[in-house]
Amino acid sequence: MLSDSFGREVTDIRISVTKRCNFGCVYCHDEGLGPVARPRAAHGEEMTPAEVERLVTVARELGIRSVKFTGGEPLVRTDLEEIIDRTVRQIPDVSLTTNGSMLAARAETLRDAGLKRVNISVDTTDPEEFRSIRKGALAPVLRGIRESLRVGLKPVKLNMVVFRRTLPNIPRMIDFAGSTDGLKLQLIQFMPELVHHREWMVDMQSVHRWLEEHSARVLVREMHHRRVYIIHGAEVEVVDPVFNPDFCSHCHRIRVTHQGELKGCLNRKDDRIPTRGLDDLALREAFRQVITTRIPYYGGYITDLPPQNPSPQLSPGPPRESPSRATV
Ligand code: SAM
Ligand code: SF4
Repeated sequence: MLSDSFGREVTDIRISVTKRCNFGCVYCHDEGLGPVARPRAAHGEEMTPAEVERLVTVARELGIRSVKFTGGEPLVRTDLEEIIDRTVRQIPDVSLTTNGSMLAARAETLRDAGLKRVNISVDTTDPEEFRSIRKGALAPVLRGIRESLRVGLKPVKLNMVVFRRTLPNIPRMIDFAGSTDGLKLQLIQFMPELVHHREWMVDMQSVHRWLEEHSARVLVREMHHRRVYIIHGAEVEVVDPVFNPDFCSHCHRIRVTHQGELKGCLNRKDDRIPTRGLDDLALREAFRQVITTRIPYYGGYITDLPPQNPSPQLSPGPPRESPSRATV
């Protein structure tokens, strides 16, 4: 297993298979690759399944033990099953982050190809609010969640981006996650770096405090030192990287763009290493280089941290007496 000079072992790789997407979320950072391509663009630049397999083979040799596919929207690719099939031959622990809108029809074939789990992005259970934030329909996403649970792609993690508009939804989303076995909620801090709108940020410390007050138990995961709250029968994980050196110092992940460039950090644009056309020796060397030159973004790359509470204190509303049970 390789470590960087800050002692961070790299165990995990996140691979973008496209930058295309059928949604247009107001906060989308598109993995740092610029605006989402709408309408759908040609996809000659995207890695082929064989290219993905080659990268994953080297990743396994270097000790990487889990793969997450992302995008853009990975399900715009009709060959995602083939990509997953080739990947699990090298690294069995394969998961997927998706907007869920095209998932229901493919959950079973994805599972058969070897997919183990899914993250499905849902910020609200209100269809109108969902459309206003994500520019797409909620109903197919709920069908995708249901179908994923049915075919055993568990746990299904619901990714909710926490920003001004969604903050009041947290109690309802906790009810939603707690209403069905196999669902977990992941609260993702809005990252302003690539879409600006810093005024959309909320104070995550007040979210942590609120969760702690209402939790039966609190755990801490090694990856990113993420806190996990057991609350109202739901498991709620908080992913809060912004201005958080502790998060960065526990990051064990490298990334690959849809064009096959290696990246040591989501937030940096200056650390891409192209791999297309490299022979096996040079490809291994590129992996070593991207890993050994990783720098914790906050508290390493960005050392001049802005104030920790850049927005007014906002806190989610109190837990409701009779929570409305949105079921999937
Ligand atoms: N299209 C897929 C989806 O929406 O799940 C996968 C790609 S998307 C870029 C991956 C995750 O990043 C999603 O859960 C999305 O909600 C989240 N995301 C997008 N923009 C974000 C931002 N500015 N801050 C925090 N999370 C963001
Ligand atoms: Fe971005 Fe995912 Fe939303 Fe598409 S669905 S716009 S990739 S966050």
